[in-house]
Amino acid sequence: MKEQLALLEKLQGIDIQIDIHEKDLARLPLEVQDIARNLVGLRREVAETRDRLQTTELTLRKNEQDLAVEQEKIKRSERRLLGIKNQKEYNALTREVNLGKKVAGEIEDAILKLMSEIENDRKILEHKETEYADFEKSLLEKKAEAETIDTGAKKALRVLNSAKKRLTEAIERDYLKRYENVRRVRGNAIAETLNGTCNECHISLPPQLNIRVFKQEEMIICPNCNRILYAKPENIPEYNKMEE
Ligand SMILES: [Zn+2]
Repeated sequence: MKEQLALLEKLQGIDIQIDIHEKDLARLPLEVQDIARNLVGLRREVAETRDRLQTTELTLRKNEQDLAVEQEKIKRSERRLLGIKNQKEYNALTREVNLGKKVAGEIEDAILKLMSEIENDRKILEHKETEYADFEKSLLEKKAEAETIDTGAKKALRVLNSAKKRLTEAIERDYLKRYENVRRVRGNAIAETLNGTCNECHISLPPQLNIRVFKQEEMIICPNCNRILYAKPENIPEYNKMEE
């Protein structure tokens, strides 16, 4: 039994490492995917901002042309005013000039607003482009990291799995079955006893049970978490060893 327990404990050590590598293998592609998804979102935002900026710039140019036309009209009317003798005609043209000035003022306001929108969007675009470049860089880095870890993990798993195969061949079927069953439910199947408690679920073990764990003559199950209890040789008191 003693050897069997030691083998099971060794098996658990290997299983823990296998789990770590398998988690890495599952996790890294998801992380790469996550960055790639962010990158796609950012690319769309950059394109949208660029489109909006272009539209605003076109509107600005159109407004500048309108303003020039309006100002030219005002200038023409003002020149004509100088030559007019008829009061009625003078008043009508003055109204026209004033109206033109009002329109020009409105266009100028619109131009200022558009200019501030453009300035704002240029800042946003610059910020997003920097962010995009950063994400692109981290995607490449993450891909390289994933490849390295992938290769390492697969290599380690080959070694670990063949070690596991050798170990399980040396473990009795019933013990192995128990181990696998508890492991499926609890994540790990072997619990070390420490100072009279199960080191996994932390329940205090009845002293007689603890002594039976020390003796290692049979498989002892934690009454609370059902894990197989195991004591490291250095934690077994000498008098228990002597009783063997
Ligand atoms: Zn327990």
